[in-house]
Amino acid sequence: MRKILIVGAGQSGLQLALGLQAQGYAVTLMSNRTAEEIRSGRVMSTQCMFHTALQHERDLQINFWESQAPKIQGLGVSVAGPDSQRAVDWLGRLDGYAQSIDQRLKMAGWMETFAQRGGQLVIHGAAVSDLDYFARAYDLVLVSAGKGELVSMFGRDASRSPYSEPQRALAVAYVHGLGPRPEHPDLDAVRCNLVPGVGELFVMPTLTLSGRADILFWEGVPGGPLDVFQGLKDPAEHLSLTLDLMRKFTPWEHARTAEVELTDAGATLSGRYAPTVRNPVGRLPGGGLVLGVGDVVVANDPVTGQGSNFASKCAAAYLASIVEHGDRPFDEHWMRATFDRYWEMAQHVTKWTNAMLGVPPEHVLGLIGAAGRLQPVADRFANGFNDPSDFENFFFDPEKTAAYLASVGGTAA
Ligand SMILES: Cc1cc2nc3c(=O)[nH]c(=O)nc-3n(C[C@H](O)[C@H](O)[C@H](O)COP(=O)(O)OP(=O)(O)OC[C@H]3O[C@@H](n4cnc5c(N)ncnc54)[C@H](O)[C@@H]3O)c2cc1C
Repeated sequence: MRKILIVGAGQSGLQLALGLQAQGYAVTLMSNRTAEEIRSGRVMSTQCMFHTALQHERDLQINFWESQAPKIQGLGVSVAGPDSQRAVDWLGRLDGYAQSIDQRLKMAGWMETFAQRGGQLVIHGAAVSDLDYFARAYDLVLVSAGKGELVSMFGRDASRSPYSEPQRALAVAYVHGLGPRPEHPDLDAVRCNLVPGVGELFVMPTLTLSGRADILFWEGVPGGPLDVFQGLKDPAEHLSLTLDLMRKFTPWEHARTAEVELTDAGATLSGRYAPTVRNPVGRLPGGGLVLGVGDVVVANDPVTGQGSNFASKCAAAYLASIVEHGDRPFDEHWMRATFDRYWEMAQHVTKWTNAMLGVPPEHVLGLIGAAGRLQPVADRFANGFNDPSDFENFFFDPEKTAAYLASVGGTAA
C-alpha cells in the first residue's frame, strides 16, 4: 500500500486525503489545529464554490452539508455611480447552483470523517525539518498548508506573478439578520458591488455553525477609504465599520442591515496577501522533494472568489494523477507534470483574477454595462465563475468582446 503524507487540512489537503483514502492509499494528514480548534476559531474565507468544484465533492460523497446550505442560483453585479446610486445592476443565472459552507464547519467535519475512516491524523504544525525527516518514510509528501510559512520552500514564479504586493485589503463579517434583497427576495445570489477606484463589497448567503447566515466582505484598494480594518481587534467595531462603509459606498446594501448581528465571536477576519504563483516542487535540505497543492502553488486574490474552487480542482487533478501513476516513483518529472495538468486550468483563473484587480479597460466596462441590457451576457458572465477559461472567448480581447456582443444582438455602448 502506497504511503502518502499530506501537510495542511484545508480544502485541498482534506479533499485529497479523503479521495486517496477511498482509493486505498495509506494517508497521514498533518494539521496544525484540531477539528475542535478549527470549529471554535475564526472564519477563514467566504468560500463560495461553484458547480464544477461542488461536483468534485459529490464525486467523493463528502458533500455532507449540501442539503442544508443555501443554493446560490445567481450572481449579481452592481456598479456604484458618482452619486452613490447604482449605475449598473444585473443578475446572471448560474446553470448549476453555487454554495458557501463555512470552512470551520466543513474542515472540522471532514477531518473527523478522515480519522473515523481509519486515516492517521497528526496534530502538529510541521516545520521544514519535520518534512525532511518524514520524506524518507513516505512515497509522496504533499504540502497543502495554504499561505502559511511552509510556502517559503516553494520559490515564487515571477513570470506568472505580476504583483509582488497585496492588491486588496480584506475584511469579512458573518452576520445573521440581513434583510431580503428587494429585487429578488426568493432567489439566493452572490452580489458583487463594484465601487470604482475604491474596492468591492461582496454579499453572499452561507451556511455557518449557527445555520444560515450572510457574509459582508469588503475588498479595499490598499491605502484607500476601505483600508481601515488593519489592527482592529474588537469584532463589534469591525462590524460597525463594515456597516458605516456600506452606508457611504453601497447604500442599497446598507438598507438591508438594520437588524444584523455577528454570528459568533469568531465571525470577523481581516488581512491581505500578494497573489502569487509558485514553483510547485520544494526541495528539502536532505534532498527529498515535496509537491505543493492549492494555495501553496497558486494563490489568487479572492476578488473573483476562486481559491476554494481551484483548491478543489487541484485536489481532483492531483488525485487522478496519483492514481494513474500506479506503483511508479513520484519523482520530480511526475511532480512537474502533475502541476502542469492543474496549471492548464489554473492559468485562466490567475489571468482573469489579476485582470479584475486592475483598472478595467473600456471594453470590459462596456461588457459589464451590456449585461444589464442583455440577459445572455449576464448569464455568461455569471457562469464564467464556474469555468473561468470561458473568459478567454469574450473578456480580454476588445475584438472578441465586440464580436460576442454583436452575436447576441448588442454593442458595448
Ligand atoms: C477573505 C477571503 C475570502 C475568500 N473567498 C473565497 C470564495 O468566496 N470562494 C473561493 O473559492 N475562495 C475564496 N477564498 C480563498 C480560499 O479560502 C482559499 O483559496 C482556499 O481555502 C485554499 O485552500 P487550501 O487547501 O490551499 O489552503 P487552506 O484552506 O488555507 O488550508 C491550509 C491548512 O493548512 C494548515 N497549516 C498551515 N501551516 C501548517 C503547518 N505548518 N503544518 C500543518 N498545517 C498547517 C492551516 O491551518 C489550514 O488549515 C477566500 C479567501 C479569503 C482570505
